[in-house]
Amino acid sequence: MASIFGHSIVGFTLAKVIDIRHVKLLVFFAIGSAILPDVDVVAFILDIPYTHPLGHRGFSHSIVFALLWALFLMFTIGKRNKRTWFWVIFLATLSHGVLDAMTSGGKGVGFFIPFSEERFFFPFREIKVSPIGIKDFLSNWGLQVIYSELKFVFIPCFFVFLVQYFVVHYNKR
Ligand SMILES: [Zn+2]
Repeated sequence: MASIFGHSIVGFTLAKVIDIRHVKLLVFFAIGSAILPDVDVVAFILDIPYTHPLGHRGFSHSIVFALLWALFLMFTIGKRNKRTWFWVIFLATLSHGVLDAMTSGGKGVGFFIPFSEERFFFPFREIKVSPIGIKDFLSNWGLQVIYSELKFVFIPCFFVFLVQYFVVHYNKR
């Protein structure tokens, strides 16, 4: 994983940029959805191997999972604004695997599970992989994670906000 902060900020940005009405519930679910795929760390407790389709960075990090989760929320909580809910949740959930595929450690992401068990990384892997425990996070390792995410996650997100701000502002004139 990238850190919980890195994933959250991407979910937050997607919700704010796509849903111009800034519905709070959607922002909340977008952040949650960007973190959600890592529930699969229970695989370690259940002794499911990392490389198994249900292992860490497996099915819950796949495109199919993002699609099913987005459809589920769209037809339940997001009923009144289906299209926005679908795109925000789908992209927020998928963004998790995308960030993971840019991290420096662990195994690749199973984007195409259940169709292919292959694990992927992008050629760009500058985001330091985040430790899973709190104790490791409060170490030098944690600092390196924060620094790499500042550069490659927070600043790009900030830039997206900036562009959006000027586009909206310009259109109002
Ligand atoms: Zn992950």
